[in-house]
Amino acid sequence: MVKIGVLGLQGAVREHVQAIEACGEEAIIIKTKDQLDEIDGIILPGGESTTMRRLLDRYDFMDKLRQFGEQGKPMFGTCAGLILLAKKIQGYDEPHIGLMDVMVERNSFGRQKDSFEADLAIAGVSDHFNAVFIRAPHIVNVGEDVEVLAKHEGKIVAARDRHYLGCSFHPELTKDSGLTQYFIDIVKKQKVLNK
Ligand code: GLN
Repeated sequence: MVKIGVLGLQGAVREHVQAIEACGEEAIIIKTKDQLDEIDGIILPGGESTTMRRLLDRYDFMDKLRQFGEQGKPMFGTCAGLILLAKKIQGYDEPHIGLMDVMVERNSFGRQKDSFEADLAIAGVSDHFNAVFIRAPHIVNVGEDVEVLAKHEGKIVAARDRHYLGCSFHPELTKDSGLTQYFIDIVKKQKVLNK
């Protein structure tokens, strides 16, 4: 069994906890940086990336979150969480956590489509994944070692860079916990490797 943290400063936290528990693993809501020592992997939820960044600074999370990833511990950014994790954000000089080798653009799917659902094929997860997008970003380009897992309307909406996973949508808002399970499998493999 692995322990998966869900960053609990803002956003869709409880639904991720339920998805992790549905996969039979232990979920811990992370509110202080010291709790990072207790977990094997972390999910950065959707919400509002600029608000979350302010809270990360206020609670002094940034250095320790970067170290967490650099130690080989898996991180899964969903929607705003993907924006936090990306190495580059289009139109911004600096990233936030900046570990995953992708460039993202915020609010990529237009105003009239503030939120929508799409049936996605996600490599290694599902041929029909019901994905909920809410003011979603997309991945504009990826580094050499990044595997593109899903596209919607030609735009990359899920990718994996080593032990970093990111998606534009909210996997925790639908019953299918396949992508959460995919992340948990990465966490289990990394736990063995990190020993
Ligand atoms: N548009 C939000 C942002 O830029 C992300 C939206 C979401 O997480 N649902 O942070």
